[in-house]
Amino acid sequence: MHLVDVLARDSFTASFEFFPPKNEAGWDSFFTTITDFGKLRPSFVSVTYGAGGSTRQFTHDLVVRIGKEAGLDAMPHLTCVNHSAQDIDRILSRYAEAGVSNILALRGDLPSGTTALTSDYSYASDLVQAVRAFAQSGRHPDPRGFGIAVAGYPEGHPQTPNTLVQMDHLKAKCDAGADLIISQLFFDNHAFYDWRERCELAGIKTPILAGIMPITTVTGLKRMAELAGGTKFPAALLRAVRRAQDDADAVSRVGIHWATEQCRDLLDHGVRGIHFYTLNRSDATRKIYENLGVSSTDALRL
Ligand SMILES: Cc1cc2nc3c(=O)[nH]c(=O)nc-3n(C[C@H](O)[C@H](O)[C@H](O)COP(=O)(O)OP(=O)(O)OC[C@H]3O[C@@H](n4cnc5c(N)ncnc54)[C@H](O)[C@@H]3O)c2cc1C
Repeated sequence: MHLVDVLARDSFTASFEFFPPKNEAGWDSFFTTITDFGKLRPSFVSVTYGAGGSTRQFTHDLVVRIGKEAGLDAMPHLTCVNHSAQDIDRILSRYAEAGVSNILALRGDLPSGTTALTSDYSYASDLVQAVRAFAQSGRHPDPRGFGIAVAGYPEGHPQTPNTLVQMDHLKAKCDAGADLIISQLFFDNHAFYDWRERCELAGIKTPILAGIMPITTVTGLKRMAELAGGTKFPAALLRAVRRAQDDADAVSRVGIHWATEQCRDLLDHGVRGIHFYTLNRSDATRKIYENLGVSSTDALRL
């Protein structure tokens, strides 16, 4: 379903982000887990796109399989990195043929060990334009073409320290035709609320989803600090994790409790939707729903 229709249908959206498993055993266990995710009745799910190599094809395969086998609306992520305009056109064409409705358009990061981007498109805004232009080709079953989501950064993107300029770049993606903004993960809701207000002041009317990732291990926390550069870890969260650090289950409980409180507060503040970075594990997301006192997303739409 086109993102515009999803947003019209659901007053509150919950979406789950997955990554393509690297091997066959991983795919088997993923498709066991996906039933759990389905029970939570997300508005849509999304599948990440690798920095390069064979896993990129897995994104296409997983999106198609999720649609067929789990009956969930799956949105592929797509990045500019190491793609010519022709590559992008070919990828979009395959998604259109497979009946995929939406694309999360990203610039992507350079694969480790490389120093220059070899791509026809330099920024996500260029990719948004290309995806929009694809609609004119008449190759998508929906005359509107793909619904388009883009990324936003409540605590800033490391490459653009000037936050006013960064807001201009986000606005450029919206003006180019984005239907939805999905935020980078954050642990301090105040940062999200302030950024949401700044988006409004900049004239951005595109709906914004809040990105939430429950910390379940100390290693995971460290990895997130690396991947989501610029994201702040509140002292209260670090203290709680430190108190629990000798007990893996306790760390997970602390992380899930923190994420639950974030979600409760976001719901109280009328957030348009929550995008869960699931790391393919349903237990943490399921427990957050349980802690909120609901069995599916339907009950979160008051
Ligand atoms: C929800 C979400 C999902 C993600 N999924 C993936 C994924 O699947 N695969 C993956 O590889 N990465 C993924 N990422 C990470 C993302 O690719 C990186 O954060 C990347 O560095 C920026 O991508 P972007 O689309 O935000 O880029 P852009 O919007 O292009 O911004 C990148 C940087 O360039 C600056 N900029 C933009 N336009 C201009 C301009 N005209 N002139 C100068 N500077 C400019 C911006 O301010 C920013 O600092 C995801 C991030 C989020 C938040």
